Amino acid sequence: MKRKPIIAGNWKMFKTVAQSVTTALDLKSRTYNANHCEVLIAPVFTALKTVADRLEGSQIRIAGQNCAAEAAEGAFTGEISAEMLADAGCTHVIIGHSERRQYYNETNALVAKKLVRALTAGLIPILCVGETLAERDAGQAEAVVTSQVLEGTRSLTAPDLFRIVAAYEPVWAIGTGRAATPEIAQSMHRLIRSVVQEKFGSEAAQQLRILYGGSVKPDNIASFMNEADIDGALVGGASLDAETFSKIVFFHNQN
Ligand code: PEP
Repeated sequence: MKRKPIIAGNWKMFKTVAQSVTTALDLKSRTYNANHCEVLIAPVFTALKTVADRLEGSQIRIAGQNCAAEAAEGAFTGEISAEMLADAGCTHVIIGHSERRQYYNETNALVAKKLVRALTAGLIPILCVGETLAERDAGQAEAVVTSQVLEGTRSLTAPDLFRIVAAYEPVWAIGTGRAATPEIAQSMHRLIRSVVQEKFGSEAAQQLRILYGGSVKPDNIASFMNEADIDGALVGGASLDAETFSKIVFFHNQN
């Protein structure tokens, strides 16, 4: 099955509102003709509405980097709901990024709740999974990622799988400059697809887009995109600069 690639940029806790707008507009002018893939950026919360407004009419989509696990609104100081992200102009939201799991103790159970909240709000969640270096060295990478997928999607039904995106991001490759080899990434992506197939059926599994994340750069993106089960990239550091990120968007020119 042909799956339209997604190239997504996670801006993490970088950029003021003005800097976010400048980068977003620069990216817009560099990628206006990128019809071969979906382009997505995830600015900080404070910049979402302004960036979304300034990108109106462009094909770049906006994602939140996280959302609350609770209700659409309520007494949850410091939280931002999926509905509020949608209201600010987001179409997507990153859920369960390893930095959330690592620094804010996000468990698979919490991730499962957030996925439901995102879907209820009409957002497309990007479910992030990936093992740590210690887990890989201990031979547990497959088991860890399998349980992240199964537990994270435990409240979902097969039709829900048509409205989510997955991202395999080995923790040891994020921000380290040490990307996974395309072979390792492909074998983990194939595993994720087979786990989804077993639980939700082959149609859901075949259409599911699974992004690779971890030190993606213009000079390695093509090697990942050549793999059968890699359907795009979730890019951190290299997405902060519009020129660099646009080279990743046009991955087919980077061979
Ligand atoms: C990320 O933050 O999801 C990521 C993959 O970061 P980097 O590209 O910097 O490794």
